[in-house]
Amino acid sequence: MDRATIKILGGGLEVGRAAVSIAYRGKTVLMDYGVSFSEDDKPQLPEHIRPSEIHVVAVTHAHLDHVGAAPYLYTTSSYPILVMNRLTKAVAEVLIKDFIKISGYYLPFDESDWFRAVESIHYVETGEEVDIGDIVITSMNSGHIPGSQTYIADLGSLKVAYTGDVNTIDTRLVRGFNTSSATADVLVIEGTYADVDHPERDVVEKDFIDSVREVISSGGNVLIPCFSLGRAQEILSLLYEKFSEGRVYYDGMIRIMNSILASYPEYINKYETLLRATKEFEEVKSASQRRKIVKNGGNVVVASAGMLKGGPSLYYLKKMYDDSRNAVFLVSYQAPQTPGRKLLENGVLDELGPIRARVEWFDFSSHAGFSGLLKIVESFKGLRTVVIIHTGEQAGTLSEALRDRYEVYVPRSGESIEIST
Ligand SMILES: [Zn+2]
Repeated sequence: MDRATIKILGGGLEVGRAAVSIAYRGKTVLMDYGVSFSEDDKPQLPEHIRPSEIHVVAVTHAHLDHVGAAPYLYTTSSYPILVMNRLTKAVAEVLIKDFIKISGYYLPFDESDWFRAVESIHYVETGEEVDIGDIVITSMNSGHIPGSQTYIADLGSLKVAYTGDVNTIDTRLVRGFNTSSATADVLVIEGTYADVDHPERDVVEKDFIDSVREVISSGGNVLIPCFSLGRAQEILSLLYEKFSEGRVYYDGMIRIMNSILASYPEYINKYETLLRATKEFEEVKSASQRRKIVKNGGNVVVASAGMLKGGPSLYYLKKMYDDSRNAVFLVSYQAPQTPGRKLLENGVLDELGPIRARVEWFDFSSHAGFSGLLKIVESFKGLRTVVIIHTGEQAGTLSEALRDRYEVYVPRSGESIEIST
């Protein structure tokens, strides 16, 4: 009998800094190595693991809470092979360089370590399989953002699946996780929304578009703060299909992400729609253009950053908050203590005071809710053990629903789980 050790290096009963190592028969696979941010914006790395002990590190997608600490694994002379796809690499490169520029002072790595990481990449596109030193890694679409992958690591007599962030519904931007064909002994699954079901997407979309129309028809402007990759493109595609009553602009890092995504049609569900949206809507390139947008009514601006932590969205907010005809429609998760969360909860922003513009939040989540997560677990054949990470108290609802059929763990960061084979 052999034993596998699954160690939660980060993302155990916390949302952020995802990192899980799987050690079995002398081989170690690491799934993701992300960062999280404390309330004072200091980056927090996962627990340390010696890079020379790892054979492969597989990164699921380009969000910093899954890839942000990866360069740290390339600061020594002996380091692992890095598995990801080309789109994830292209996007991660932009986000990591930006992250190092902003937070470099706190980080034990720099850009040269990221370059070493890039040289170590073994590209695995969605649907492909790779054999690295007797570890076979299969990638599947995880449905979270363009390029996001779920991995199944076959370590001989043990198959461990790791979802990364996952969603089951089809949107204009990405197709959902396909719950039909996988086999695994152990599933490590995210549980960001393990206790709720999101409202139906078409209901959210209709409500959103109706609200945008209301504001525009009464002469106001709409600001839509968005994450630069994923949500921004989904909102642009939605506006392109359903909204024609006003001018639509996009601003900030969204522009760079649009141009990257244009080269990866295979990772976009409705590629033509996105392409047309980015061509027909106007890219904001200058300060004078920004001033013009906020001066006149009838404009919709999709701008980064999604939680109003800087970027052009903050500029627009400052110019728009004082007019009750305007609106700020938040479409992303708002972390505690961020300006976006404060705006939603208190209707004020520290330096600005009370806001007169209409503020609303719309549930465009790219994470599966309770029913979707349950469907994913049940879709795996041969499954015995389920480990829920990237979650908090909400994991209780899902773990209760699974406990009579599977061995279920909701570990803290730093904890290990022993699996006998
Ligand atoms: Zn993510």
